[in-house]
Parts: sequence; structure tokens; C-alpha cells
Amino acid sequence: MTRRVLVSGNWKMNHNHFESIQFVQKLAAILRASPLPSGRDASLHPPFTSLRSVQTAVESDAVPVALGAQDCHGMDRGAFTGEVSAEMLAKLGVSYVIVGHSERRTYFGETDEIVRAKLDAVLRHAMTPILCVGETLDERQGGRAEEKVSAQLGTALSKRPGSVVGGLVVAYEPIWAIGTGETATASDAQHMAAHIRREVERLSGAEAAGGIRVQYGGSVTPENARVLLSCPDVDGLLVGGASLGAEGFAAIGRAGA
Ligand code: PEP
Repeated sequence: MTRRVLVSGNWKMNHNHFESIQFVQKLAAILRASPLPSGRDASLHPPFTSLRSVQTAVESDAVPVALGAQDCHGMDRGAFTGEVSAEMLAKLGVSYVIVGHSERRTYFGETDEIVRAKLDAVLRHAMTPILCVGETLDERQGGRAEEKVSAQLGTALSKRPGSVVGGLVVAYEPIWAIGTGETATASDAQHMAAHIRREVERLSGAEAAGGIRVQYGGSVTPENARVLLSCPDVDGLLVGGASLGAEGFAAIGRAGA
């Protein structure tokens, strides 16, 4: 089955709302001059404070990118100071929500169970979760990378209908490759992407495994994007640092097409 490639820019805690608008205007001009190839989708994941500005700028310039968020709470409302709900994101026109990013798991103590609750919330509000999974360097060197990823997938995806799981995006982000300049080799990325698809098939059936999109993330650049996207089981890229500039992000969106 031919899947659409999804390239997502995770800005993390970068770009205030003025900088975010400038980014979108620049991207609009770049994509007007040279559109993304057919079969390519893109999403931008600004900080919460920039979501509304990005949404307005994307709409007014008709930029062909979806609005994404970096996180959400698992509950729809209540006494959770500082948090933002999936319901609020859906109202803003957000289409994709990253859940379980390793920085959230490491710095904010997110467990697999919390990640599952966030995934539930995103689905409840008809958005698409980008579920991040990945191993530490210790786990990789100890031969436990697949086991770790399987456990994360198991908690997040078990007991869900195959038709729902087939619509999700899973981002394989080896923790040792995030923001470090160390990229997994294409063969590492392909190996784990194929493992993820097999696990999804075991948990949710062949239809789900065929439908799910698997992104690779970890020090992606315009230079290494082509080889990563050439992997048969890699359907997209989750990009941090290299998504902060409109030219670099557009170059990654076009890579190899
Ligand atoms: C990320 O934030 O998900 C990421 C992969 O970051 P970077 O591309 O900077 O490694």
C-alpha cells in the first residue's frame, strides 16, 4: 500500500508568536515558489503560545501544512494548573498531537500509562496522535531496544480497534539520537520501523499495521532526510532542531521526491 509521507516540525520551546508568524510567512513564500511534492504532508508543532498565531497565518496564506501540538493533558478540563486539554487543541484546529515525546517522559515523568491517557484524549477529540517511542543508549547497547519499544507500544495501543490504530502515527525516536547530532543509520531506522509494524500487527491486526504511519526522528537534517525516507517502512520524519528554519524544513519536506 502507498502511504502518504508526513514530515512534522517539532519546535519544542522555541519561536515566540512573532517569530512563529515570520516562519509561516517565509514558508508560504518558499512553498509557493516550489510546492511540496505530491504524496507529502507536513505539520508544524509550535509551542502552545504560538498555536493561534500559526493557525491564523497558515489559513490566511493558504499554506499547505497541518497544525500540530507538542502535548496535551489526558483530561478534558479541571483543576490542572498550567495544562492544556485535547479539547482546547481541537477547537483551535489542531490536527496532530505529539504524545509521549522522550523529553516529556524524561523531564516531566510521563509514564506509559499517562501517555495512553493522552492518546485516548487526542482520539476522543478526533485528532491524530503522533505516538513517540524509542530506547536509550543503554537499552540499545544492552540489546533491549526492541523490547522497550514493544512495551511502549503495548501499553499505548492494546485493546484498541484495528481501524483506530491504523489511523495513528508512531514516531520512532531513539533517545540517543535526539538533539545530539547522532542519527540512526537508515538500516537502524528501517529495522525498528519494521519491528513497530510487526508489533502493531500482533496487537491490532494486519489492517492496522498496513495503515499506521511510522516516522523516524532524531537529528534529521536536509542532508540525511533522503536516505531515511528511502527506507520502505519509514513513512515520514519528526524533526526538531532542523525544523526551526523555514528553508531547512521545506528542504526536508522535499527530500528524495
Ligand atoms: C524531536 O524533537 O523529536 C527531535 C527528533 O529533535 P532533533 O531533530 O533536534 O533531534
